[in-house]
Amino acid sequence: MVHAEIGVIGGSGFYSFLQEVTELQVETPYGLPSDSLYVGELAGRQVAFLPRHGRGHHLPPHRINYRANLWALRSLGVRQVLGPCAVGGLRPEYGPGTLLVPDQLVDRTKSRAQTFFDGHPLPDGTIPNVVHTTFADPYCPVGRDAALAAARGRDWEPVDGGTMVVVEGPRFSTRAESQWHAAMGWSVVGMTGHPEAVLARELGLCYTSMALVTDLDAGVETGEGVSHSEVLKVFGENVGRLRAVLFDTVAALPRTEDRACLCTRAHEGWDLGIELP
Ligand SMILES: [Zn+2]
Repeated sequence: MVHAEIGVIGGSGFYSFLQEVTELQVETPYGLPSDSLYVGELAGRQVAFLPRHGRGHHLPPHRINYRANLWALRSLGVRQVLGPCAVGGLRPEYGPGTLLVPDQLVDRTKSRAQTFFDGHPLPDGTIPNVVHTTFADPYCPVGRDAALAAARGRDWEPVDGGTMVVVEGPRFSTRAESQWHAAMGWSVVGMTGHPEAVLARELGLCYTSMALVTDLDAGVETGEGVSHSEVLKVFGENVGRLRAVLFDTVAALPRTEDRACLCTRAHEGWDLGIELP
């Protein structure tokens, strides 16, 4: 049985050069994850990589099976998850190449399954109870500290904290939407950060977002608005150092049995009605 303790949800650029990667197809009560899970050793830790959009990037943000992704990772033993993602900057000073480790999240998605605890029976007949998960602080404080330190260690001064607003997509924001997001004081805009973070919390996993700014959002920049090719270009230019920061973060995360953060107490006082994997 292949085991992993840390999960990374991100593109194939993060694991493709690892030696001795085991590819696993994992089924879950919620269907199949975005792709196979790729497990390899990194800094002495067993890490499972999952391409969020699938190989070839065939899944748009609103069609990603987030529940299957988090469930599959947990079923391998994963208890800490890193979620690198591309975002748009909502402040002029957060230009392309900025790395922001958010501490807050705003959900503006529309159509996504965002809980495991909806009272809907699983295929094995067990029924999850209705559970209201504490989510005031959506990200793992220990994982955040590790990511920030890793970035500084690579001479990439990160933005410590900020709010990621997550929109439904797949289109980019209008100028008016973007100006509204900025006026609310939010920092960056993305399309995948929700429900990934809350589903991780519901499974008692630590989740840390690492947001790479690939463009200034439409309400902030003065040109023609965000284009997909621009996003891909900036991501490509930064994937190497993002990978380095990611790997240093993996090395710095606590052992599973040493976790003492709030994430581990997500289920305190609740009868879940189902067995978590
Ligand atoms: Zn945690």
